[in-house]
This record gives sequence, C-alpha cells and structure tokens, in this order.
Amino acid sequence: TLTSMFEQTVAKYPNKEGLVDLRLGTRWTYSEWDEEVNRLANTLLAEGVEKGDRVSTVLFNTAEFATTLFACMKIGAVFNPINFRLTAQEIDYIINDADPKVVIFEKATAASVKGIAASLPHITFWSIDERELEYAEHYYRAIEGAQAIRPNVEVDEDDLYAIMYTSGTTGAPKGVLHTHRDMVDQALILTATLRLTPEDRGLSVAPLFHCAELHCTFFPRIMVGATNIILHHFDPKAMIDTVREEQISTMFAAPTMWNMVLQEEFNQDDFATLRQGLYGGAPMAPALTTRLHEALGVQLLQAYGMTEMGPAITALLEDEQISKAGSAGRALINHEVRVVRTREDGPADPEDVCEPRELGEIVVRGPSTMKGYYKRPEATEEVMFKGWYHSGDIGSFDEEGYLWVSDRVKDMIISGGENIYSREVEDVLFDHPLVVDAAVIGEPDEMWGERVVAYVVPKEKSLTEADLEEFCTSTNRLARYKRPRRYEFVDELPRNASGKLQKFKLRESQGTRT
Ligand code: AMP
Ligand code: MG
Repeated sequence: TLTSMFEQTVAKYPNKEGLVDLRLGTRWTYSEWDEEVNRLANTLLAEGVEKGDRVSTVLFNTAEFATTLFACMKIGAVFNPINFRLTAQEIDYIINDADPKVVIFEKATAASVKGIAASLPHITFWSIDERELEYAEHYYRAIEGAQAIRPNVEVDEDDLYAIMYTSGTTGAPKGVLHTHRDMVDQALILTATLRLTPEDRGLSVAPLFHCAELHCTFFPRIMVGATNIILHHFDPKAMIDTVREEQISTMFAAPTMWNMVLQEEFNQDDFATLRQGLYGGAPMAPALTTRLHEALGVQLLQAYGMTEMGPAITALLEDEQISKAGSAGRALINHEVRVVRTREDGPADPEDVCEPRELGEIVVRGPSTMKGYYKRPEATEEVMFKGWYHSGDIGSFDEEGYLWVSDRVKDMIISGGENIYSREVEDVLFDHPLVVDAAVIGEPDEMWGERVVAYVVPKEKSLTEADLEEFCTSTNRLARYKRPRRYEFVDELPRNASGKLQKFKLRESQGTRT
C-alpha cells in the first residue's frame, strides 16, 4: 500500500528532511511529518471518518495537503483532491458527487467554498488559515492535542486510495478511482525511469492535486526517501529562485510553465543542481523543447498519459529529446500502447491495429489502470472497451516504435473533408521566434465545413498576420488547407491548472461549437 510505502521511508530515514513548505517556513523530518500525519489521522477518526469515506481538499501546494493525503491513507479514507482553480459551481458539483465527510480548504479558496459549506451542513469544513469563520472550523484547532501514534486501521492494497476528478473539458467531470496498488506500481516505474535516489531534492510547483505532479514525481520521491520542497503556487521567478536556493535536483512542470520560465531573466547557474526537468500533461512544441534545453542547460524528460491510467504510460527520455523532439516516446515498463483504427459506430477495436505512421486512436493497458469512474458504470464500460483504455487522443507510431500524439479527437479540425490535427499547425507557429504561445481551432466555413483559426500570443506587438502567413507558407510543412485563414493576437490563452489548452473557451468566445 501507499501507507506502508510512506511508513517504510519514515522508518528508514526518520531524521532526514522529508517535507519543506516554503509558505509556512516549516522543515519537517520524515518522522516529524509522520507524527503530524498521525495526529490528523486520529482526528479524522474521531470526527467519524471511516474506511471508504471521502475526504476532500481544496488546497494549493501546502504541507496540509501532503499531510491530509497520508492521513487518509492511514485510515483507509478515500482522498479527493479538488482543483483549486475551479469555480464555486464546479467545486460544488464535485463535492456533491464525492459526498465527503470532511473538506479542507484555505484562505485562497475560501471564496469558492463558503457558499457550499453553508448549503451542506452535514459536512465538516476545516480552514487551514482563518480561525474565526462561521461556516468552518480551524484545522489546527481540530488536531490540537491529538495523539501522534499510528492509528490501528488495516488498509489493503486493493482498497481505494483516491477519487480524482478529470479536468473534464467537455461534459461533467468524472471521478477516477485508484487503489493503493495502482499507485505503488506507478511509483515503482517512475522511480526507475527517473533514476531517483535518497539524495534527490524534488520541487513540487505544479499543482499537487493533479496526478502528473502527485503520482509521477511526489510519490516516487517518497518511495526512495528523497526530500520534498513545495511551493504554494507557480510563479516563474519564485520557481527559479527556489531551484537555486533549495538546490533542487528534480522537478516536473507543465509545458506552459516552462514556457513562462523562458520569458524570465535567469542564468544557467540558477539551474546548476537540476539534473532533470520533467514535462508533460499537454503537448510541448519541439521548438520549445529545444529552446528550453539550450537556455537551461538541463536534461529534459517527457511523460504522456492521463488520470485514468495513473497517469504516465509513455516517456521520452533524456537522450531522445533532440532526435525525437515532438514524440511522446515509448511505453513505460509494464505498459502496452496501441494505435488503432477509429470507427464511426462505436469505440475502436483494440485488435484493429494501425500501420506505422497511420493515425488512429491511442489505447492503453497497464498496471495502474483506474478501477472505474465513480458511480458511472456505463461511462467506464465505454472507455474500457475490450479491456483497453480508450484515450480519445489521436496519434501514430513511427517505424521505431515512438508514439506521436497529434490531437484530441474532439479538437481535430475537418476542412473540405481533410483532417487537420491542431498540433501540427501549432508546432509550426511555435517555430516562429516571435510566437510565445499558440492555439489552433476550427471555425465554421460555408464552403469547407471548417477553417483553421490561430490564436497567437506575440512576443512583440510588431508581429503581423502577414508575417505569420508568410512564415507558414515558406516553411513548406503545411499544405494550403492546413494554414490558418485568420489570426487573432491575444495576451494569453485559456489554460487550466495543469497547463492544458481550454479550446472550448476559444470556441465559446467565437460562439461556435463547444
Ligand atoms: P488528464 O486526464 O488531465 O490527465 O489529461 C490527459 C490528456 O492530456 C491526454 O489524454 C492528452 O490529451 C493530454 N496529454 C497528457 N500528456 C501529454 C503529452 N506528453 N503530450 C501531449 N498530450 C498530453
Ligand atoms: Mg481526462
């Protein structure tokens, strides 16, 4: 179980720095952290939280998040980390669906939580910041005086460990169920892939509520007994300073976060201790990977996956970054990945495998596959067709077995009967030195069905539509029908907390299909 994984590390490295929260200024050894976890676990038990009950958090990256996580594990409660960036309405939906016994939040999320707390009096709300609130109790007051000894609850590897709601760019978010075993397997594989050691110092600056940060880096680091430094939220300057001051050796960030780091002033010495920079969760244009590699002088690694799968299923390793730039790499240990032909009348058949370079839907199998969507058996059955998780991503393999992710099925543009994969166009735009960020969507066209529109964040105001048109033509990489018919220059693009483009928001702003 994840519980025994944590306890083994505590037993092995009791006096080692385990958790550093820069917001509180606390530096806990693994055993101090464990005592804090036990105090909260005993408090939750006293509050009536039983095995299988849910506990939700609406927290940024905080020590209290990390403590709640392991406190839940120790008593077999199901941890439900909620995206702190969601609106009050979205959080309300998730809390009603997950139906937790306790919700833990902070000052920065109080505005979203307040109304929900008032409407759900049977749920206990704890704030980690404010002491005097009508609708909530104080977290530290609640755990005051609680015993720091290990609670006596049996937890099994097949017990649920968490419900994580997927970003849900369309439709209502669904709760992905994972067991302890799922995550121990994922942690083992990532520990090996990242070659983590107890000497590593890892930074959590990407949101811990998302599985990319939590499962691909945080758990693996705890598994080996590395030190974990957590930054409350992302700020490129603060991130650079922390890497230098805390001598960070390994970290993950979403492509858009790395991109923001590139816009800052820094020198390579700031990253002298960083032996690897992990990215993933959304595509990164090859031009950006190259710029990052050159500017930071750091080895890069990419992971591709999805919440339902644990998440990571493929990785592009350090020495493949340049030769295979733009690819998502190859399957991780114990994972199987296929590209299969899509069908009009139902889910793709996992046996109908595409040829190399032929585009199809990416389907996967692996040890960390979810146990289903909470209370949604039909939705589960649909994505798990014939035992393979159907990702909704379009991609292909090359002759050497490297996976290339082209687009979300739902984001693909169809113009004059031809499929256009937005990533192909976006990658070309990123090659232009004055393009900071880019997104491509389709808009209705009477003649062609849809036509390509590009949203671009320019580095300098001088960049014009004509410049980009000329650039797209001259690169010779985009057939005429793929080139944007229209450009919109914007200050920033809508992205969610894990860095994914929210194309539905761009479509909404046009009043077209969502
Ligand atoms: P989530 O459910 O939030 O984990 O999002 C999963 C989705 O993010 C995948 O289905 C992909 O569309 C996208 N994604 C994740 N990692 C990558 C990557 N390395 N490259 C391209 N897309 C990615
Ligand atoms: Mg998803």
